[in-house]
Amino acid sequence: MNALAATSRNFKNAARLLGLDAKIEKSLLIPFREIKVECTIPKDDGTLVSYVGFRVQHDNARGPMKGGIRYHPEVDPDEVNALAQLMTWKTAVADIPYGGAKGGIGCTPRELSKSELERLTRVFTQKIHDLIGIHTDVPAPDMGTNAQTMAWILDEYSKFHGHSPAVVTGKPIDLGGSLGREAATGRGVVFGTEALLAEHGKSVKGLTFVIQGFGNVGSWAARLLHERGGKVIAVSDITGAVTNPNGLDIPALVKHKEDTGSLLNFSGGDMMNPNELLTQECDVLIPSALGGVLNRDNASSVRAKFIVEAANHPTDPEADEILSKKGVIILPDIYANAGGVTVSYFEWVQNIQGFMWEEEKVNNELQRYMTRAFHNIKNMCKTHDCNLRMGAFTLGVNRVARATLLRGWEA
Ligand code: NAD
Repeated sequence: MNALAATSRNFKNAARLLGLDAKIEKSLLIPFREIKVECTIPKDDGTLVSYVGFRVQHDNARGPMKGGIRYHPEVDPDEVNALAQLMTWKTAVADIPYGGAKGGIGCTPRELSKSELERLTRVFTQKIHDLIGIHTDVPAPDMGTNAQTMAWILDEYSKFHGHSPAVVTGKPIDLGGSLGREAATGRGVVFGTEALLAEHGKSVKGLTFVIQGFGNVGSWAARLLHERGGKVIAVSDITGAVTNPNGLDIPALVKHKEDTGSLLNFSGGDMMNPNELLTQECDVLIPSALGGVLNRDNASSVRAKFIVEAANHPTDPEADEILSKKGVIILPDIYANAGGVTVSYFEWVQNIQGFMWEEEKVNNELQRYMTRAFHNIKNMCKTHDCNLRMGAFTLGVNRVARATLLRGWEA
């Protein structure tokens, strides 16, 4: 099932549990605005090349729309739509005053030079600058984009609208980025995991963790779990998978990856078949790479007690059902990876205040938001007698529906 179908299905199940009026349900599902623009740039050799850029602004009932911009060859309107919708529910679950959006350009960033990427980003910004803004729609990095991309958008946008650091988040610190933003999603994953484990009378210390993906989110989650005494017994990335039943030395593995660009040949563990990683016996499995990795082919073989969805949409609905029947407890993506957008919100607040917070304050506030959201989700689970995914969806959808109704329907 593709991401849009799966997200819409979860939304509809939540709408049913909440008893939402069919007209509100329909209105919440349809995006506020879908933008598609043509971006032509000269390549370094002088030839012209055209790309298609998208921005889907899903909902703004609770505040400016918020979401990443990805550069990827498979960016398509359906996927961008699903991810924009997920952002609406995610910002509502975290209770930050935003709606949801997502964007992207269909391109292969590693095949473009830095100056070609800069030209492409500036042309895209020229095409959409009137439709984004500090109080309208605030982009951030996503797959294939980074702090440098945000710096170019900020610069281009500011040519039209004056200096506007709050128009994007995930910026370099020198241009108004927030301390703690880089680690925020992984840190939020760990705060969420701690809240979940506490609910079951457990803590990170001494438990075993398996992590798929060792990029920004996976490697930060691994570092922070290791610091807290968790045993990370296997990790994988695109280069392979490494395991050590006694717990990997994560700082050494991070250094090995920095030095060699790969997990291969790490002396502190044994290489394993990456296909077996997701079914490795452990207390907590943390998919932190791709969508759809847990599906009907492998769900019945999963041997984890808990799954924390650090990636977006790692569990397809069929796997969700199988895992649920097996008694595996899943902490859903719209909560588990909300730490990134929460610290993006703190960045936006700091830019508007013109005042920079200490990193300790950022991390403490993040913990407060993640813990509060977990308890809000649990309350919805009790009210609607549902699992954590539906608890999170009902929480987010209900908040957006309430804001929509309070605004009224009068034209
Ligand atoms: P990243 O590009 O930094 O890391 C992705 C990792 O996945 C890399 O280590 C890569 O090698 C690995 N990977 C790719 N294909 C793989 C495969 N087939 N098997 C195993 N590993 C594979 O990306 P990221 O920022 O860490 O994002 C990871 C996930 O988290 C994505 O689903 C993203 O949408 C989600 N997410 C990220 C953020 C954020 O702030 N970075 C926020 C919310 C959600």
